[in-house]
Amino acid sequence: MNEATSMSQVVGIPQATPPKQAYATKAFAAVSPASALAPATIRRRQPGLADVQIEILFCGICHSDLHTVRDEWHHINPTVYPCVPGHEIVGRVAQLGANVTRFKLGDIVGVGCVVDADHTCSNCCEGFEQFCPNATYTYNSPDKHGTAPVTYGGYSDSIVVNQDAVLRIPSNLDLAGAAPLLCAGITTYSPLRRNNVGPGKKVGVVGIGGLGHMGVKLAHAMGAHVVVFTTSPSKQDDALRLGANEVVISKDTDQMTKQANTLDMLLDCVAAPHDLDAYLGLVRRGGNMTLVGAPEKAMPVLAQSLFFGNKSLAGSMIGGFAETQQMLDFCGQHNIASDVEVIPIQKINEAYERMLRSDVKYRFSIDMASLK
Ligand code: NAP
Ligand code: ZN
Repeated sequence: MNEATSMSQVVGIPQATPPKQAYATKAFAAVSPASALAPATIRRRQPGLADVQIEILFCGICHSDLHTVRDEWHHINPTVYPCVPGHEIVGRVAQLGANVTRFKLGDIVGVGCVVDADHTCSNCCEGFEQFCPNATYTYNSPDKHGTAPVTYGGYSDSIVVNQDAVLRIPSNLDLAGAAPLLCAGITTYSPLRRNNVGPGKKVGVVGIGGLGHMGVKLAHAMGAHVVVFTTSPSKQDDALRLGANEVVISKDTDQMTKQANTLDMLLDCVAAPHDLDAYLGLVRRGGNMTLVGAPEKAMPVLAQSLFFGNKSLAGSMIGGFAETQQMLDFCGQHNIASDVEVIPIQKINEAYERMLRSDVKYRFSIDMASLK
């Protein structure tokens, strides 16, 4: 029995004759919080009238994939197994529903964290589909089509998505490096824009991983003075190359003190619990600190850290479809893609361990040809 057959039996996915409106496709899945990702066969719906079937070429590895696979967000959104993560998807249009007007066969397209929304609620009407009460997320979200218990993400051969959630990838971008824009790119672009980051603004970025390194590139391209805060001295030179004007090793108290009360905005991209009060002390009067990192545990904040200086602490989650397209177009204009280490999918478990050690510069991107 080969590995794929045994995995398919473990997850109980029918092999021989998938139902008429579904087809079988290859993927990598986890079957429990403690299990490694392993080959699996999953079912996808056949494209409906408004659907686009995408042959996946590259999929970025987001730290949210790891949080979900290991059920670290159990208190908010428990993981349903088998779990197929992946929401930084770039691929080629392989099939179109009869009513699809926005794409043609062969187009290079992207899919991020949301694959469907109701388009009628106030959030959708204002361009915030990610907060739609009826949104379907790319993985671990109830599958409204009934093809599987939950949606399955991009660690897979192909995906079928409503055309409204499909985005255009600028033709000048490297595809492996463009994939992480679909989550890391929009998650950092959106709060930078909301805070009017641009010339004359001093912006801090904390945690130079997948999100953080995109935050540095984008804030630099927007014209801001960028200060990187990192726990990793080995990232110092890279941070300058990515567009930082200054680099602070966050464990060095003297270096931290020099930045006190100077930042107009601080974008916190750290994936593990850390001291928020220490960073609020770096924000200037009236400034803003936005959390995009999602550590599994709550982090305390002293009220004084906020009210002494009328500071605000905010959060931000990905972005709507139109804003994600705007971000992709901005990246096309400025020739910005993610710095990626391209890996075959068979190295996924090793990649997760390396991401936990902050040992990736700065995003893994899976070459999905390795799944064939
Ligand atoms: P990542 O690539 O692992 O980067 C996280 C970075 O945080 C690391 O590179 C490291 O940077 C720093 N870090 C890690 N552990 C730390 C610790 N114990 N203390 C201080 N710093 C530490 O992760 P990512 O994919 O960028 O994701 C970051 C977080 O954002 C995750 O929690 C993810 O789930 C979340 N996320 C949120 C959204 C959203 O919409 N809000 C979207 C995507 C992801 P240095 O080496 O520079 O210190
Ligand atoms: Zn993500």
